[in-house]
Parts: sequence; C-alpha cells; structure tokens
Amino acid sequence: MTYGEVFEEGKRRLTEAAIEEAVLDARLLLEHVCGTDRNTLLAHADRLVTEEDRLRYQELIKRRASRIPLQQLTGVQNFMGLDFLVNEHVLIPRQDTEFLVEEVLKNLHDGMRVLDLCTGTGCILISLLRYTNDCQGLGVDISPEALAVAKMNARRLLTGNGESAESERRGHLQFLESDLYERVEGIFDIIVSNPPYIPTEVIDTLMPEVREHEPRLALDGSEDGLLFYRRIIEGCRTHLKGGGMLFFEIGHDQGAAVSELMEQAGFLEVQVTKDYAGLDRVVSGLLEFEPLKR
Ligand code: GLN
Repeated sequence: MTYGEVFEEGKRRLTEAAIEEAVLDARLLLEHVCGTDRNTLLAHADRLVTEEDRLRYQELIKRRASRIPLQQLTGVQNFMGLDFLVNEHVLIPRQDTEFLVEEVLKNLHDGMRVLDLCTGTGCILISLLRYTNDCQGLGVDISPEALAVAKMNARRLLTGNGESAESERRGHLQFLESDLYERVEGIFDIIVSNPPYIPTEVIDTLMPEVREHEPRLALDGSEDGLLFYRRIIEGCRTHLKGGGMLFFEIGHDQGAAVSELMEQAGFLEVQVTKDYAGLDRVVSGLLEFEPLKR
C-alpha cells in the first residue's frame, strides 16, 4: 500500500469512530510511524509504505479509534515550544496551562525558588526554568509514576540550557514524592499549581479520552472541585515567603471561590486573569508579611 492509501484508510476509520480531529490525528499518527513530516507525505502519496510501518499504523489507528488519546500513542505533547514525554500516568499538558506559565514568568526573576505542586509531566516547572536564568525549582507529585516522567522530561529538556542531571544534583531542580507539602522542606518565592480541579461527578461527563484514559488522580478535585486549592492555601504559610506569590490554574467558573479562599488566608492583590479565550484561568496573589511579633 502507498502512503496515500493507508492515510485514506486511517482517516476513514477514525471518522467512523467519530474521533473529533479524525483527519489530523490520522496524519499525525502516520507521520509518527513513518518518521516523516507532512510535506513528505503529501508530496509522495504514491510511495510505498513498508509492511512493518503499515501494520504499526493500523494498530495505532485501532487504538486511537478506541479513544486512547493521540498523545499517549505518540508519547509526546508540545507545551511552551518544548516536547514533553507523556504516558497514561500523567495529565497531558494543555495549551490553557501555557497561560499560567506566562503569568508566572512575569514575576519570576533570576535566583528565585519556585515550588510546583502536582507537577505531573513537570511541564510547568521545566518551562519556567527553561525560560529564566538561575532559578531553582522543586516539583512535587504524589504519584511516583508521574515523577518518573517529570524526571525524564527535565533531563531531555533542560540539558541544552546549561542544566542537566548534574544541575539536578546541584539542587537547581529537584522532584519529590509527597502529598502536597507533606515532605517539602524550605521556603519559596513562588508557589505554582495546576491541581486536579474537576468536581468528581463532572468527570463522567468528559470525553472518553479524558475520563477513561487520563489519570483520575490528576483530574478529581473532590465534590466541589476545590479540595486542592483549600489544602494548598492552608499550608502555604510554612513554605511561601512573606511577599511571595501563589499562582493557580483554575476552571473557568472557579475564579470567585478561589480568590475568596486566598483573601481569607491573608493574600493581597488577589487577581483573576482571563486567558486568550476570555475565560477566567489564573488566580494569583501576594502573601502579606507576618505582622512583627512584640
Ligand atoms: N501540573 C501538571 C500540568 O499542568 C499536572 C496537573 C495535574 O495533574 N492536575 O499539566
């Protein structure tokens, strides 16, 4: 069979399975299997595909038709211009979260220490360190499988930046298995988190790709979706400097609730920022300095 023929078949099978981006996914999987780019595929549609590639492609199409997310099949997702490895143990980085990273970058200066809670693939922390100088980061997750992915990403993506496994040893970037602050030591200039924030009963209404294939642990924010915001805000005084900042990604309807929690906890300048789609996306605030004890 030729590129053109296998591609046609892939498109048809994904369309029949009602995959949202059937044509795009069929092409990306073909590029993934054949190690070619779009232009080669289009310009040489009559080239023969090896038997091995054809079988691999058909197998991937079958798995995609069964609703396994594209990124779990190709193993990567681009985020902030960087290719992050993903698997079934981590939330696939979302474009929405790039907005959170950009907001943090406006406030992250050379030499600062940043704590990323619920780090997953490490996409937030690794991007922050990649686009600043000399910052130090600690990425925390409760899942050892997720941390294994984050460490691989750090090794791949921070090496060309003067960072490496070596710098991990020097303490520029560390990952820690911990339930939020449980095992965290030290004090940070910035705490950032995109925690699980979907209300439990909403999860079953999401696309099968998400509800059946992404880790529930990375999605479920308890009954009202706010559990992790509460816990992170409650614990932050021990680990955030006076004058330090806390940044959260939020669901579009959580701005009021999360900013109220932050204000009650003594945060100043609490702001809800809208993303490029005009939806509330980030809540940030500045922790007041402790009043001097007499
Ligand atoms: N921090 C990671 C991300 O933004 C994982 C978030 C999560 O697991 N809820 O992609």
